[in-house]
Amino acid sequence: MKYIFVTGGVVSSLGKGLTAASLGTLLECRGLRVVLLKLDPYLNVDPGTMSPFQHGEVYVLADGAETDLDLGHYERFTNCVLTRANNVTSGQVYETVLANERRGDYLGRTVQVIPHVTDEIKRRIRELGESSGADVLISEIGGTTGDIEGLPFLEAIRQFQLEVGPSNVIIIHVTLVPFLKAAGELKTKPTQQSVARLREIGLQPHVLICRTETPLDHEVRQKLSLYCNVPIEAVIEAGDVEHTIYESPLNLRSEGLDDIVCRLLGLNTPEPHLADWTKFVNRIIHPKKRVRIAVVGKYIELQDAYKSIYESITHAAASHDCGVDLVLVDAEVLGEEGAEKYLQGVAGVLVPGGFGDRGIEGKVEAARYARESRTPFLGLCLGMQIATIEFARNVCGLEGANSTEFDPETPHPVIYILEEQKDVTQKGASMRLGVWPTLLGKNSVAHQVYGRPEVTERHRHRYEFNMGYRELMEQRGLIISGTSPDGQLVEIIEIQNHPWFVACQFHPEFQSKPNAPHPLFRGFIAACLAHED
Ligand code: GLN
Repeated sequence: MKYIFVTGGVVSSLGKGLTAASLGTLLECRGLRVVLLKLDPYLNVDPGTMSPFQHGEVYVLADGAETDLDLGHYERFTNCVLTRANNVTSGQVYETVLANERRGDYLGRTVQVIPHVTDEIKRRIRELGESSGADVLISEIGGTTGDIEGLPFLEAIRQFQLEVGPSNVIIIHVTLVPFLKAAGELKTKPTQQSVARLREIGLQPHVLICRTETPLDHEVRQKLSLYCNVPIEAVIEAGDVEHTIYESPLNLRSEGLDDIVCRLLGLNTPEPHLADWTKFVNRIIHPKKRVRIAVVGKYIELQDAYKSIYESITHAAASHDCGVDLVLVDAEVLGEEGAEKYLQGVAGVLVPGGFGDRGIEGKVEAARYARESRTPFLGLCLGMQIATIEFARNVCGLEGANSTEFDPETPHPVIYILEEQKDVTQKGASMRLGVWPTLLGKNSVAHQVYGRPEVTERHRHRYEFNMGYRELMEQRGLIISGTSPDGQLVEIIEIQNHPWFVACQFHPEFQSKPNAPHPLFRGFIAACLAHED
């Protein structure tokens, strides 16, 4: 088993997750089996309780783990199967150490960061490596060198390197090489200093990945090599991707990252097969047509809040040889100014998931517009609840219909809290989470796009379609096209006599890949293209 640790220096948001995932792509394309791990130094047990403003999207795994959005990159860029063991936070590590202490496992010793916390970190890394059966474990450490929170992780890696042997471990440091306009040159000092921070802790990086907006010339590479004690061929330039993040593995390949990694770790493999990946990238870069799709959400200004949704749209569109112009609409603003102003002329409307009542009325407006104007609509999780509320109010005449999440006193609680959720007061990991099966109705759009009668999809919600309203809504043209196997929970709704109106209680965006776009997104884009024609 070989181990690669990816650290970050100078500033955050350098795209460490993307770098780790892209390296995963390259190694897999060389025939290696990889497993990816994210070590997050924050004290939250998982990001499930964090606001999208703090943390971007919460990525849900099949086992119901609420994880960092980098795990989304890992699943989209590699074939590695992830579980809750693939995202370790300081919160989890301390939770275990403290539980051990309360049980008396430490036999009266003083419990300390070294060795008890670092031992627990190493145990989790080793266990994941061993149970995965992979050849290489790539582990990204969140945060930036110099952060106090990150120190136990870096110390654990130092010890780990000693234990498994230096020939089995490499450290890749992702750093920033800024261009100072006034000086007219690239500056290597921030990188030198962040590498010095690492060396203080006893870690010498083997590879530098230099994020830069200006190409590194030979002189700069030489300087970085000399001051950071890294061979010059291990100084890798990583400019911004030009069109799409999926270029990243190809760019790193052209800098020879995978060659140097394999050489350092003594991995004898053939050159990577990147033909399929390159084809996919080219399809994104040179689409034959374009389509305009509106996303009506609450966190529209945040780049990361709907990450998996945007990626799923990209995958599906590429499979139709089509590019997408996203129209990002703030639901609150739409609510105040009307749907027509923002949605007229778009080929499709997507309402993503969400929590809390801000922007709800705007989303309901968007669903009304899509239904009445016969514009293709895709609702995800909250998006399905919104479509239900809109249908209840405007088609079934149920005035004031709502979800009890937004109006506990609504006369028509068409969406209400799950019975088993009523008494839950704890916020963390307490929703209906992870994969659950859905049976699809015959002759439904869902059945047609999936091409099979049963699917499993990932969930993250507390509220549910109220079956008490089923009959009335069906009489008025709502189709319940997906339910739980016992028929008790509504998973997918559609609208009769509409070109394409599908909304689901689950999150299909967590199961879309470049080479396997999700059927619902594929169907939605196809409908948008047809609508535009
Ligand atoms: N807030 C809604 C619920 O809890 C929807 C959740 C979501 O969109 N992920 O059911």
